[in-house]
Amino acid sequence: MKLAAKDISISLGNEQIIHDICLEVKAGEFVGLIGPNGSGKSTLLKSIYRVLKPVAGRIFLDGDDLYQLAPRESARRMAVVRQESSVEFDFTVLEMVLMGRSPHKGMFQMDTPEDMHIGKEALARVGMTDYSERSFFSLSGGEKKRVLIARALAQQAELLVLDEPTNHLDVRYQLQVMDLVKQLGIPVLSALHDLNLAAMYCDRLYVLKAGRIVASGCPDEILTADLIREVYEVETDVSIHPV
Ligand code: ADP
Ligand code: MG
Ligand code: MG
Repeated sequence: MKLAAKDISISLGNEQIIHDICLEVKAGEFVGLIGPNGSGKSTLLKSIYRVLKPVAGRIFLDGDDLYQLAPRESARRMAVVRQESSVEFDFTVLEMVLMGRSPHKGMFQMDTPEDMHIGKEALARVGMTDYSERSFFSLSGGEKKRVLIARALAQQAELLVLDEPTNHLDVRYQLQVMDLVKQLGIPVLSALHDLNLAAMYCDRLYVLKAGRIVASGCPDEILTADLIREVYEVETDVSIHPV
């Protein structure tokens, strides 16, 4: 699977938030999107998961124009873990995971034994078998993220897109979530807040500032003190330490 965004511009109201961005995720890659708060990471990701249509540019999934695909078809190819995991109903953990199966089914089709098998395997893979019957509402932030990753697994998509999956988690859960994502074996595009995690897990990074990509490359090359000072507008000495 390959994702390619070409010359994407996005406007909200009268304001252009994203300016002519090109971005690629190739097979086997874990690609990070970093940049200060308000730089446009979430806005850009929303255009990739079809919440915000770009005013210009095109997005391709394996050569197919994303916005020409049936929504169900794009959901078969791409799984999404959004920043907020709000749900309006009190679903169980297993029910949440089984939602990942819906893109593969027709309307009004019940879960088959195969769907149940896939859902339970996905829960086992994130170490949450014992939580199947728990209410999703009752889980902690880290547990919710793991369930949403299990849902993405059950979806059997070819690409995973995440928006700051480690927000509000302590270090142990941050590493657990990042390890899980890394182990999925599908290409990943993730907005990340934490530069240490970006350095540890990503093969390649795009650095966003004020809606433009100002640097890209492998973490070792681009995460220099100078770049961080400039992009994040900090005065003090900065360096990246492994967690
Ligand atoms: P990030 O995810 O990098 O923190 P966002 O994509 O959330 O950045 O925001 C980028 C810019 O778009 C910010 O200036 C923000 O204020 C603005 N923005 C976000 N959502 C809206 C909206 N619904 N209407 C207008 N401006 C918005
Ligand atoms: Mg933010
Ligand atoms: Mg954001």
